[in-house]
Amino acid sequence: MSEVAANLTAVQAAIAQAATEAGRQPTDVTLIAVSKGHSADAVREAYAAGQRDFGENYVQEWQEKSAQLADLTDLRWHFLGHLQRNKIRFVIGKVALLHSADDMAGIDEMQRGAWSAGVKQDVLLQINLAEEEQKRGCGEDDAELFLDVLSRSPNLVLRGLMTLPPMDENPETTRQWFKRLRVLRDRLQARLRGRPGAPASLWLSMGMSSDYPVAIAEGATHVRVGTAIFGARAPKIR
Ligand SMILES: *Cc1c(COP(=O)(O)O)cnc(C)c1O
Repeated sequence: MSEVAANLTAVQAAIAQAATEAGRQPTDVTLIAVSKGHSADAVREAYAAGQRDFGENYVQEWQEKSAQLADLTDLRWHFLGHLQRNKIRFVIGKVALLHSADDMAGIDEMQRGAWSAGVKQDVLLQINLAEEEQKRGCGEDDAELFLDVLSRSPNLVLRGLMTLPPMDENPETTRQWFKRLRVLRDRLQARLRGRPGAPASLWLSMGMSSDYPVAIAEGATHVRVGTAIFGARAPKIR
């Protein structure tokens, strides 16, 4: 078994255990293998081991990799990084889920791009819970406003929330942020109730290599795991 395949097996087992301990079904959690900084061959190894959802952060790197992997037609790409407005059109309609709807101007551009491509794009609203300056996303207090703007964007389908909480080596410290995203999700869910086309349940994309079991305990439906599957990343390929 390759190292990537062995790592994947271990991560899947940890996901199943965390879900079961939380009284959830392991199949309720989607594992996104974050392949940024790793080669198309590494993605192929994970794919051969059964992995189908992959995450990337940088447009050019993703374009090159996805072209090399075009033969894997059931591979699902997730776009995780901030999208500069002039790059949005390269991504819209080509990824299964865009995790980084993070500002009003960007959302406007995403809507326009999806409309002109004639597609409906699934998106997650990125929330900057701690309002960190170096991070993107809307603050908790603005979430309702963003929710309403997304609801009025006919070519964008809001599927849930994503967060990248403040870094901490101790996953127990990170737990509070995961909890807060879940509480916010419940609040937004209540606001959507009864609206036509409202999703039955909003997803929660939260948890990375260092803390995904804790995120699952707090309700994550999507975990984004890179290092624990592919190993340490090479410096950014841009
Ligand atoms: C890189 C990245 C990840 C994966 O991080 P690891 O610590 O390698 O698991 C998850 N989410 C986002 C948004 C990222 O940029």
